[in-house]
Amino acid sequence: MKFEYAPAPESTAIVDIQSDYNLFIDGKFVPSKGGKRFATMNPANEQVLAKVTQGTAADVDRAVKAATNAYKKTWSKLPGADRGKYLFRIARILQERAREFAVLESMDNGKPIRETRDTDIPLAAAHFFYHAGWADKLEHAGLGANPKAHGVVGQIIPWNFPLLMLAWKIAPALATGNTVVLKPAETTPLTALLFAEVCQQAELPNGVVNIVTGDGATGSALVNHPGIQKIAFTGSTEVGKLIARSVVGTKKALTLELGGKGANIVFEDAPIDETVEGIINGIYFNQGHVCCAGSRLLVQENIKDELIEKLKRRMSMIRVGDPLDKNTDLGAINSKAQLTKIQELAQSGDTEGAERWSPECQLPEKGFWFPPTFFTGVSQSHRIAREEIFGPVLSVITFRTPSEAIEKANNTPYGLSAGIWTDKGSRILWSAQQLKAGVIWANTFNKFDPASPFGGYKESGWGREGGRHGLAAYLKGDM
Ligand code: NAP
Ligand code: MG
Repeated sequence: MKFEYAPAPESTAIVDIQSDYNLFIDGKFVPSKGGKRFATMNPANEQVLAKVTQGTAADVDRAVKAATNAYKKTWSKLPGADRGKYLFRIARILQERAREFAVLESMDNGKPIRETRDTDIPLAAAHFFYHAGWADKLEHAGLGANPKAHGVVGQIIPWNFPLLMLAWKIAPALATGNTVVLKPAETTPLTALLFAEVCQQAELPNGVVNIVTGDGATGSALVNHPGIQKIAFTGSTEVGKLIARSVVGTKKALTLELGGKGANIVFEDAPIDETVEGIINGIYFNQGHVCCAGSRLLVQENIKDELIEKLKRRMSMIRVGDPLDKNTDLGAINSKAQLTKIQELAQSGDTEGAERWSPECQLPEKGFWFPPTFFTGVSQSHRIAREEIFGPVLSVITFRTPSEAIEKANNTPYGLSAGIWTDKGSRILWSAQQLKAGVIWANTFNKFDPASPFGGYKESGWGREGGRHGLAAYLKGDM
């Protein structure tokens, strides 16, 4: 018998979405110089939520000037303890307005309210709290006796964790004494614009944070602006490479957080029920729109059948649907373009001979949806084993010996994350030492903490975010 859930939708009354948004420059919402507006929609029902501004090169220039002015006149002159007070204030306001942020994020992105409420927003606040604590202790961070800010930082973020990625970028930049111009992703600008209101509420000095909405052209104008001293980018490897090319030959510092194709390795002695939960969390969390997702399941051949049976049973319990329903596990795919990309890659799995499985589930008619899916019979040469799908699609690959597992896990141009499931501590240490991945989880997956550095090897990026290592990216040491 199937256990039915009554609908439990979160009310949207708490959010106050304006029909049109200006840019946030020098502490005020100002109209663009010549920019048009474009719509941001709710991907779960295709309803337009608001129109936001397409920032032009002239707007970017105005924002960089405001940030430069704020850096020179106020922010660089404030003692670290005072910068810390603003960060604490922002963190507290994020907590106070957490429900509003959670509902708005869910509407603009399509992710389940359960995740925005329990993960995105609390972690965003935690990032501000953590970095607030560093603001007056930078000389003790082991980065030189008197580390200095770069000045004005240009930051570009993707749509998969809009507010959380903003927090990963803005909190360390401000704590270390930089001022910022940030461009949110085209499909998810609304929580960044609400964050601009939080900056006003916290009475952050004007120009310390500037938010310029727009598309790739706006991002490119920011990257190429001569008044920027550092670029921090999170997004695709393709755009990351473009940015690296533009920055070469300039004095701009650069950090890149790019894509991944994480291996979740299950050894024969793994605790199987916990492992199934870890696999689910690894690939179906946030619709698989996670750069560090465990999108390749490497399972020891002798336990494959048992694991797949249990995985199927567990996947049949995943509830797909209205992101604002508190019972929903898997929400909408963020955009039509992303859905098309997932469909195309899944089809390549079919044509290349892998076997597709999804539980029976009814997808809503409107909006962009893809059921939780896995492929078995996947070989290393298949596109679904090599390319980042960035959707709820898992590729299952088998191995016979531990060294074969490591070899397959490392056989990728990426190197962002990996997971190890085993009963033996020695095997965890042995595997972790050989895996070329920036983050390795053992008997868990997708655990994040502001104190823990995050970043990639190879085509997954340059530099680290979070923790002491993340501070280094925003400072010029004097060692
Ligand atoms: P994307 O196309 O690279 O976009 C990322 C950001 O860059 C967006 O704000 C985008 O604007 C902007 N952009 C696009 N073209 C640009 C250009 N030529 N110059 C400067 N900025 C430009 O990536 P996405 O499709 O939004 O995000 C998915 C990808 O991000 C995945 O590959 C995923 O693995 C990666 N990701 C990595 C991490 C990490 O920490 N390593 C975290 C999250 C996501 P528009 O929104 O207008 O396109
Ligand atoms: Mg949207």
